[in-house]
Amino acid sequence: MNEYDTNRIYDTVKNIGYFKTNDHLNADCYLLNTCHIRDKSKEKVFDEIGRVRKNYKNKRKPIVIVSGCVAQAESCEMIKREPYIDIVIGPQSYHKINKIIENFNSKKKYELTEFETEDKFNYLDKIKNSYSKISSFLTIQEGCDKFCSFCVVPYTRGPEYSRPFKRIIEEAENLVKNGTREIILLGQNVNAYLYKDNEKNFKLSDLILELDKIKELKRIRYTTSHPKDMTEDLIECYSSSKKLMPFIHLPIQSGSNKILKLMNRNHKVEKYLEIYKLIKKINNNVEFSSDFIVGYPGETDSDFNDTLNLVKEIKFINSYSFIFSARPGTPASKLKPIDQEVAKKRLILIQSNLESHQLKKNESLIDSSIEVLVENKLQNQNKYFGRNLFLNSVIFDGEDKYVGKLVYVKIKNINRNTLFGKIDENKNMRAA
Ligand code: SAM
Ligand code: SF4
Repeated sequence: MNEYDTNRIYDTVKNIGYFKTNDHLNADCYLLNTCHIRDKSKEKVFDEIGRVRKNYKNKRKPIVIVSGCVAQAESCEMIKREPYIDIVIGPQSYHKINKIIENFNSKKKYELTEFETEDKFNYLDKIKNSYSKISSFLTIQEGCDKFCSFCVVPYTRGPEYSRPFKRIIEEAENLVKNGTREIILLGQNVNAYLYKDNEKNFKLSDLILELDKIKELKRIRYTTSHPKDMTEDLIECYSSSKKLMPFIHLPIQSGSNKILKLMNRNHKVEKYLEIYKLIKKINNNVEFSSDFIVGYPGETDSDFNDTLNLVKEIKFINSYSFIFSARPGTPASKLKPIDQEVAKKRLILIQSNLESHQLKKNESLIDSSIEVLVENKLQNQNKYFGRNLFLNSVIFDGEDKYVGKLVYVKIKNINRNTLFGKIDENKNMRAA
């Protein structure tokens, strides 16, 4: 979502004559768009600002802006800790950035942290999304009303807001005109998308089926979804949509019902397994990935073993796992942490289990031809980059004419994260 936001900020500041530069030592304005989900990301912001201050020591000081969720959560505290920062601007206020830059006074500090999501999107809808990547993000929903005990999102992104259905379709059509061939619909709770227009309720499934009709669009994905909002109509899309990819990132966080309850996740492991089975029944090709938090306060060996057993039962691919990080202001931050050495050991164990599934899955692809959407040529290399149906990176020998196209690539080699191969000319000819 930060990548999407950053591009929309670029689109906004273009109107006052500011452009993206690679000349990092001579910028007029330095903007850091930030994430607050774990403590590490916050500390990185201060490290980076320190580097900027050092780099500009003998130069004219740029306007230094921190935007995004760290700005929202820490606001004036950030400026107190690091006076080199001029402006902090939360994720729902960045539509006001032009006015602030234009009226900037170096003797003043500025702080904008209101939740004005609707105003923001109304403003952005008037500015064309200039994104022109083969695979592009498109935010459809923001914020969260679920308040999982560990999570800062409801406090930093604010309440759930769904963008108007028509605006999203217009933005998608514009992206496709720019050259996009895959759209990744985004939201902190993307499957909670609900837009009411007169009598009709538009849901994520309606969006997917409408996007299906855009001829040049080849692939649709969405992230991140919550098990509670995996409704039947959405599950049905894994059979009815021609372009929805057979891969779902559906975080469960823990395989223990006790921990899920403590996390205020509002669903049980059984519910997750039910969704898994339903989707597999509708389309057996669908693969799952998840997020896991290990070392949550109160997690015992037995709770962690429940998570490991779930990982063995559902052969997740491309998953993420983290040690619980206490976030200020969240209910979980007041709980007694578990021994960090135990948490680290658990992380290593779960990651090795997840990685071994991933490796086995990738190994099974050697010598087969898989469908890849070609995204770009790699810099300084005669190789191309694309992704398979399940979002794995594929690097292969190809040609410029394939960029933006679906091609078959014969896999010759793999590692855990990447598949390597070359264009399968025979299969491509047959498919054409
Ligand atoms: N809305 C999604 C859901 O409910 O599954 C998740 C969105 S959250 C922005 C992304 C992931 O960050 C979560 O799934 C969780 O695993 C991880 N995360 C969030 N807060 C965390 C914390 N305090 N410590 C460790 N990981 C955290
Ligand atoms: Fe955070 Fe997701 Fe829970 Fe919302 S549903 S509070 S975004 S983890």
